[in-house]
Amino acid sequence: MRIDVVSIFPDYFAPLHLSLVGKAISSGIVELGVHDLRGWTHDRHNTTDDTPYGGGAGMVMKPEPWGEALDALEELDPAPMTIVVPTPAGRPFTQELAYELAAKQRLVFACGRYEGIDQRVIDHCVEHYEVIEVSLGDYVLNGGEVASLAVIEAVVRLLPGVIGNPESLTEESHSAGNGSLLEYPNYTKPPVWRGREVPQVLLSGNHGLVAKWRREQAVERTRSRRPDLLAPDGRD
Ligand code: SAM
Repeated sequence: MRIDVVSIFPDYFAPLHLSLVGKAISSGIVELGVHDLRGWTHDRHNTTDDTPYGGGAGMVMKPEPWGEALDALEELDPAPMTIVVPTPAGRPFTQELAYELAAKQRLVFACGRYEGIDQRVIDHCVEHYEVIEVSLGDYVLNGGEVASLAVIEAVVRLLPGVIGNPESLTEESHSAGNGSLLEYPNYTKPPVWRGREVPQVLLSGNHGLVAKWRREQAVERTRSRRPDLLAPDGRD
């Protein structure tokens, strides 16, 4: 997969070279390009924003640098671009959407700042490319960079070869293999820590009992913490 990011703060993306995403990049599973939007400005101050038509507080990202950036990125690689636009007005980001994005050949993240990007850029993209507007949650961040980082990490870990044991993907919270439940609680050694014991069933060596206990814990956790994830009648 190829991932391109356009931002006025390209340094935000340095941590992508760490840990599992970093390994995915160095092993060639992911090709990453981080681009400074200001590289597509032509004035002395590298201006990317201007006052909003209609008045009001804040600034809006100008369309011209975005247009040039997208044209240049299209030239860079023949794979069809899926433009991911982080915005509080987007589709809520879920594990299901992460899987959907992981199946794409090429993702381009357009990181807005200020009050966002001039709407005509989004309309232009919709006409020329696949566009997915994504919200990280019902709150407002300062820019699209942190949202893009979260989406990139969630997507890249789903690519074949990134996680050592792919089984861990099917068992974890929100995965279809787990009935989209929250994951059961996890324990490791020692068996007693500060007087707290690991549940006996996990030490029993009985795989059937362990699986049953984990399933019950997953259902109970989901019921108490996120009942919205269960079927309307309360059963999973
Ligand atoms: N004026 C916008 C509004 O009220 O919807 C908020 C703009 S916000 C200060 C600047 C940028 O941060 C947005 O263009 C978007 O790229 C990003 N952003 C903020 N909150 C976000 C969220 N919940 N999910 C995804 N991106 C977000």
